[in-house]
Amino acid sequence: MSLFTKAEIRQINDCYDDLKREIGKRFDNERMEKVDKAFIFANAAHDGIRRKSGEPYIIHPIAVATIVAHDLGLGATSVIAAILHDVVEDTDYSVEDIRNLFGENVSRIVDGLTKLSGEMDTRQALTLKKMLMTLSDDVRVILIKLADRLHNMRTLESLQPLKQLKVAGETLYLYAPLAHRLGLYAIKNELEELSFRFKHPEDYNHLLYQLHDQEEKRNYLVNEFIAPIRQRLAEEDIECTVTHRLKSMFSIWTKMHTKGVTFDEVYDLLAIRIILKAKPAISEKRQCFEVLSLVTDIYPPKPDRIRDWITMPRANGYESLHVTVMGPQGKWVEVQIRTERMDQIAEYGFAAHYRYKDAATTENELDRWIERIRDHLANSEYDAFEFLDEFKLDLFASEIVVFTPKGKTIKLPKNSTVIDVAYEIHTNLGDKCIGAKINQKLVPPSHVLQNGDQVEILTSENQVPQQAWLSYATTAKARSKIKDALRNENHRHLEKGREMVEEAIRQHNVPLVANTFRKIVAHYNLNNKEQLFSEVGMGVIKLDDIGSILSRKSKNKFIKYWNITFRGKGKGTETLSDEEDDQETAPILDKKKPFLLKENPDHIAYSLAKCCNPIPGDDVIGYVSSDDHVIIHKKNCPKAEKLVASHSHMIIAAEWTKFKKLSYLTRINLSGFDRIGLVNDITTIISKLHSINMRSVKFDTRDGLFEGDLFLYIHNTEDLQTLIGELGKIKGIDKVTRVENLND
Ligand code: MN
Repeated sequence: MSLFTKAEIRQINDCYDDLKREIGKRFDNERMEKVDKAFIFANAAHDGIRRKSGEPYIIHPIAVATIVAHDLGLGATSVIAAILHDVVEDTDYSVEDIRNLFGENVSRIVDGLTKLSGEMDTRQALTLKKMLMTLSDDVRVILIKLADRLHNMRTLESLQPLKQLKVAGETLYLYAPLAHRLGLYAIKNELEELSFRFKHPEDYNHLLYQLHDQEEKRNYLVNEFIAPIRQRLAEEDIECTVTHRLKSMFSIWTKMHTKGVTFDEVYDLLAIRIILKAKPAISEKRQCFEVLSLVTDIYPPKPDRIRDWITMPRANGYESLHVTVMGPQGKWVEVQIRTERMDQIAEYGFAAHYRYKDAATTENELDRWIERIRDHLANSEYDAFEFLDEFKLDLFASEIVVFTPKGKTIKLPKNSTVIDVAYEIHTNLGDKCIGAKINQKLVPPSHVLQNGDQVEILTSENQVPQQAWLSYATTAKARSKIKDALRNENHRHLEKGREMVEEAIRQHNVPLVANTFRKIVAHYNLNNKEQLFSEVGMGVIKLDDIGSILSRKSKNKFIKYWNITFRGKGKGTETLSDEEDDQETAPILDKKKPFLLKENPDHIAYSLAKCCNPIPGDDVIGYVSSDDHVIIHKKNCPKAEKLVASHSHMIIAAEWTKFKKLSYLTRINLSGFDRIGLVNDITTIISKLHSINMRSVKFDTRDGLFEGDLFLYIHNTEDLQTLIGELGKIKGIDKVTRVENLND
């Protein structure tokens, strides 16, 4: 009775059989029956419905359930919830129906997942905020959501390129960091690799080729490196597996981009992993250090490159011992040493806890993390975006550890300051902080902490939170507390000012109407009455001449009331009347079609973003700003990436048409060995290429090396590539790169 063809029904059943094979080993009959029931129900509910790729929809929830069971190792409740996760969203069934059929636990998770769906048209930050709030209810909601996203990423091929870009951008912005924070390395890596592949297909394929090209050589090096270690470990009777892993393509690519280095220069492509089968009755830490000592007997370690994540695990529960050693081929190689238990946590993060139920320390770390987030959510009144930016600071930062005077450890992001520690310990301590004592020395609140510092916070009853603290507070917690305090302070001024203004008006027997306030606001050249109140409250405006302001007759019905700044047009203020609805009829932008960039735009204006300075030929996207003006960014511009992830509804595809007339300022950085006549060679090449005009040259030489910047007017990327190629051929020149930022 199904609406699908026989072949499709077979496909569905095959897919479900895969899931059953996966869970059959772990679930008893009673659980298997419940899973069957969920499958039959969901299959009927999604009957006849297809995904974009054309395959039956039910394939998706089954695949998600398989990830939940296989990659996350979760139990029957989660598997059932995963099978049902899109039923409420996409069919006529309600959460109530799910509760009646599958019970309270399953329905609660499905409900959480339903609330998190439809992300493509809602604001991402809000989604994450909601997501984190559900964390405290049930982490399984987030874990299943990540599985859902992973499967969507694996099947991204069938969507339109712009849609792919948006989903990939969002994944990189939100889901990969989240997976990372939960310690789900395997999932985080796969999400990153897939995002990378869809966002930068050309770079991805090129890198894939390079890695493949070197595979044989690499395997040879690995074996040469590992063999002596294996032998030594065997002699010592240490049971272990030694594996090698490539750095992920995404992390290689990121490093190449952020550090401006070539593929060959990313030195630590290789990581060797030694996973021991820990012997009972000896501490795991001692066993790992023993292996470390054996390894460094063979290969000399790089000083300062031993990382001990066992004594103090990372906040996401990660435990491991890392050391970088000099290999036999004169290359640095990273060696990671850990036990099987630590390896499970490294791969599956907090999910490992659900799997083994014995990782007590992991549970503690998770609880502490959830505690922090809950804390953070409790007093964050500010908008979801601000929240997300602050929260992400915590997600990405690497950590340092400092000590309280009593020896308690506090984990903080790198570059944290005294004020961060103060707020970390207690809000009161933060609000009253005047500095600290570190190793017997007095330091100000702005002092940046070093790993291992012992910090004693100093306070004063007279201290109040300062605006300036925000310029160096690093943790989300400190920043949100400071902002709250300042907001309260501002609120107090505002209320006080409101009373003072109203009182002054009453004294002059003038009615408290909108027009009265407008007069005063206009007189002081302010933006609105809130600003008036707070400036009066703070004592900036004295109201001495209020009598004369109020008695003045306004001759003009146009009163300066709003300050409106037009983006990018350099216009200052505009005068608007309060009655007039100044709506211009904006041209209509067809967001479904790529926006064509022409030398003479038809009617919709666009501008090139200053952050990345794209030129014709660059891979670009458009951001539709509120006044239907399109701002063009390079696809890999960090600012654009953030916009794609957070304002995807305002992103449009954009394409260059033929550009020949206009030229764009572009900057090229050159470096190499200095010699007589070099600058002349460079300028000669530029003058030979007729399509390029030079604006300025800056060169610096020191100790026989030179570095310099060329500022040129260029038509498009094709001309630019030709030029870069020509410059690279000049004797002595080592590196030629385009620099996106035009000002230093
Ligand atoms: Mn789904």
